[in-house]
Amino acid sequence: MLADYHTHHYRCGHAGGQLEDYVEAAIRAGLSEIGLSDHSPIYHLGDDPHPLPGTAMSQQEFPHYLREMGDVRDRFAGRIAVRLGVESDYVLGWDEHYRELWRRYSLDYVIGSVHWLGTWSIFSPELPPGRTPEDIYEEYLLTTQAAARSGAYDILGHLDCLKTRGHIPDLSITPLLEETVRVIASAGVAIELNTSGWRKGLGEPYPREELLAVCCHYGVPVTLGSDAHSPDHVAAGFPEAVELLERVGYTSLSRFEGRQRFEVPLR
Ligand SMILES: [Zn+2]
Ligand SMILES: [Zn+2]
Repeated sequence: MLADYHTHHYRCGHAGGQLEDYVEAAIRAGLSEIGLSDHSPIYHLGDDPHPLPGTAMSQQEFPHYLREMGDVRDRFAGRIAVRLGVESDYVLGWDEHYRELWRRYSLDYVIGSVHWLGTWSIFSPELPPGRTPEDIYEEYLLTTQAAARSGAYDILGHLDCLKTRGHIPDLSITPLLEETVRVIASAGVAIELNTSGWRKGLGEPYPREELLAVCCHYGVPVTLGSDAHSPDHVAAGFPEAVELLERVGYTSLSRFEGRQRFEVPLR
């Protein structure tokens, strides 16, 4: 019985469906558990409480999201376990902000994702002026290490997401990449196997198999997530993902409740 820990819904402005539509899709897919993890509001781009409509919900909307997640969890109790989460940005230097922020709420888990290097989005087709792919990749990995060490997160999202727009100049296991996995392992943070890379036509998930194998080697716990932006994405690619996890040596998956991790057998 699998769990999908990475799902979005209409509030972020670029996903479709209500929270309950994702929960119903999870029941139809035969999951035992679903995690709701919409994009956190954006805090690092100035004082505007809603600086990028279409990217994330506004700061004012967040309490409504929390309340509705609790209602949905209670309404579906006995049919499927609904976990309350958020996919939070991590931005270098914002450790204290995010650590304190996520302590304030009764969440089951927080995914920390590096979507931004300062004010540059990793989904931008062009690099920032004057930067090379090599130094952007180095900054991305150092930012990922800082996210792991921040104490703000339970799971790191889509580990090699910088590849989405082709910005990773060297896809081998470089010394800095291996060091990053060791930092994640010693921080006691999980990663996710995010199946959306297959959906986006990359031909591989996040992280790619070689990197997932290194994570397994160092004992980094793992969750499964579809990164659903539509209810029909829930549990997408999960049979292939389970095969991949077994192939690289994983035998269990992580679950979270009240920000405590526990392990369940993969099969
Ligand atoms: Zn999204
Ligand atoms: Zn993300």
